[in-house]
Amino acid sequence: METLFTKINRGEIPGTKLYQDNYCFVILDINPVVKAHALVIANEPYEDMASCPDEVLSHLILVAKMVEKKMTSVLKCDGSNIMINNKPASGQEVPHIHVHVIPRYKDDGKRFTIEHDKYSDGEMAQLIEKLRF
Ligand code: AMP
Repeated sequence: METLFTKINRGEIPGTKLYQDNYCFVILDINPVVKAHALVIANEPYEDMASCPDEVLSHLILVAKMVEKKMTSVLKCDGSNIMINNKPASGQEVPHIHVHVIPRYKDDGKRFTIEHDKYSDGEMAQLIEKLRF
């Protein structure tokens, strides 16, 4: 399927690539959580993690690591958030797998305010039974 990122990859929509190889490319997010927020995007428009071949998925993570290393060295950031929004229920807006690399600074004041659930009695044990490999 054609996506926004396919068009950026082909140069049909502006987006300056920081990096490109046979599996993926890297651009800056147009609406950064923190300035220099980057996206590591598969060249092929796999919609989500399940449909992305292992070889590509593992490569995306390695490139995210490379981007994070460069950010730390150039921007002197103190940490980073590395994340994949996987399917619309998670907040994924562009159905084309990508890894967010967000530089973080000790006092940047950003908060990922996700509310936490609480387990009822025995619920956690039941889930462990269901999910164990
Ligand atoms: P997600 O919600 O995980 O699908 O993330 C999609 C990201 O793409 C969002 O953080 C958007 O800000 C970003 N985005 C949307 N359009 C563009 C664009 N033209 N160039 C760069 N980033 C974009």
